[in-house]
Amino acid sequence: MANKRVVVIGGGPAGHDAATSAARFGADVTLIERDIVGGAAHLRDCVPSKSMIATGAALSFARRIDGMGLANVETDVDAEHLRARIQGIEQRLEQSVTQLLTSQGVTIHRGTGRLLGPNEVCADTADGSIELTADAIVLATGSRPRIPEWASIDHERVLTTRDAYPPAELPEHLIVVGSGVTGVEFVHMFASLGSDVTLIVSRQQVLPQKDPEAAALLEQNFLDRGVQLFKGARATEILRNGATVTVHCSDGRTAEGTHAVLAIGSDPNSQELGLENTEVVVDESGYIEVDHNLRSSVPSIYAAGDLSGKLPLSSVAAMQGRKIAEHIMGLHEGREHRHLDYDKAASAIFTEPEIADVGLAEAEAFATGRKIRVTKVPFSSNAKALINNDPLGFVKIVSDPNTGHVLGGSIVGQHAAELISVVALAVSANLKVQDIHESLFVYPTLSEALSEAAE
Ligand SMILES: Cc1cc2nc3c(=O)[nH]c(=O)nc-3n(C[C@H](O)[C@H](O)[C@H](O)COP(=O)(O)OP(=O)(O)OC[C@H]3O[C@@H](n4cnc5c(N)ncnc54)[C@H](O)[C@@H]3O)c2cc1C
Repeated sequence: MANKRVVVIGGGPAGHDAATSAARFGADVTLIERDIVGGAAHLRDCVPSKSMIATGAALSFARRIDGMGLANVETDVDAEHLRARIQGIEQRLEQSVTQLLTSQGVTIHRGTGRLLGPNEVCADTADGSIELTADAIVLATGSRPRIPEWASIDHERVLTTRDAYPPAELPEHLIVVGSGVTGVEFVHMFASLGSDVTLIVSRQQVLPQKDPEAAALLEQNFLDRGVQLFKGARATEILRNGATVTVHCSDGRTAEGTHAVLAIGSDPNSQELGLENTEVVVDESGYIEVDHNLRSSVPSIYAAGDLSGKLPLSSVAAMQGRKIAEHIMGLHEGREHRHLDYDKAASAIFTEPEIADVGLAEAEAFATGRKIRVTKVPFSSNAKALINNDPLGFVKIVSDPNTGHVLGGSIVGQHAAELISVVALAVSANLKVQDIHESLFVYPTLSEALSEAAE
């Protein structure tokens, strides 16, 4: 029997994981990417923002160094070096993803893909158009920063998130519009690097979807670093006059700075994909409607990653790509196949302190009336946190009071994004608090706080 032919449009985490997995399972795979193999949102947003945050963390560590028995350590941000570092990381990751794809036998076309029908795709490349037929097509074209009508982006001083790194120069005073995950990471990133920052917060709390205790610690950290918070203010207009940018808010206040960045979400890349040549259904926001196998209304066409309108995370996009490959190749009928459970996806906010969570949140249980047990341990009683001179934050574990099963958790503090993996594993493997508590962790480590919280 001839191999299955799979065409993937988009080479981000969703597309390249679908492509490499399908190729590994024996399909003939072609991937079409119009910009950067590895993913535009992944390599131009996620990775650079974390790289700049890492530089900020090094600076912040240097500032804490006084408390560690050292003094007069001098640090300065070298914007040119920072740019080169980010570009270097981007290039290395693009190379390694490309190598992985080609080593699995995936054919890569550099160009724009669009659907001609339920089993036909056209790749518009610099050398002309290539028509391909496929048994299955994976749409993984990602998303782009949302630009509202009231903002004229000039990509110089009025920016989308994607314009902000590598920065041509560090903004003297940055106004961040939007206080969700991306917004607060931008505040942290630029405040750490030395910019003055104003944050426009449309509600009364930053991170409205997150644990209020975690949000309160973050707000305090921002205030301690001199960040101005405009709470309950909705941006309605952004004007640039030379080197000055003014953000007008719905409550009459104005924020003035040298740059403004919009961090108010993203829109799916579903236009110009040729969807009109198929019966693929999109929702009112442009996301492709998919079932639990990520299959669209046309059986041969799947959608993954940000385009699927599920959880916009690189980790989720990659796992969706793998699940699609299993489904295309008929492996979902095996006993080992598990559907993706988005409620069990861990996520993190790379601020100072870091904030990470997974599974059932305390507030969510409270809202639904579900009985839970919550145990909380502060890092201030953890030896390693004190050794590190960074005792801020806590570990919280949510469990079932009757069975002891771990239902979720949140961690605030140094390395929270790493530590949450233990809770994520417990949640997805249906472990009990006793399993965490009786694991022999290394001493001294931050992980011990997990063991204590699981007592
Ligand atoms: C500022 C920011 C920070 C983030 N930080 C994190 C984080 O810390 N952790 C995390 O898990 N997630 C993070 N994310 C989210 C993460 O980047 C996305 O969820 C993830 O990249 C989605 O993967 P994707 O494959 O769907 O899309 P992408 O990574 O965008 O890949 C889609 C690809 O499709 C290509 N494409 C589009 N249209 C076509 C076409 N017609 N033909 C050919 N190619 C096409 C694009 O060029 C792109 O390369 C962040 C996002 C932002 C904006």
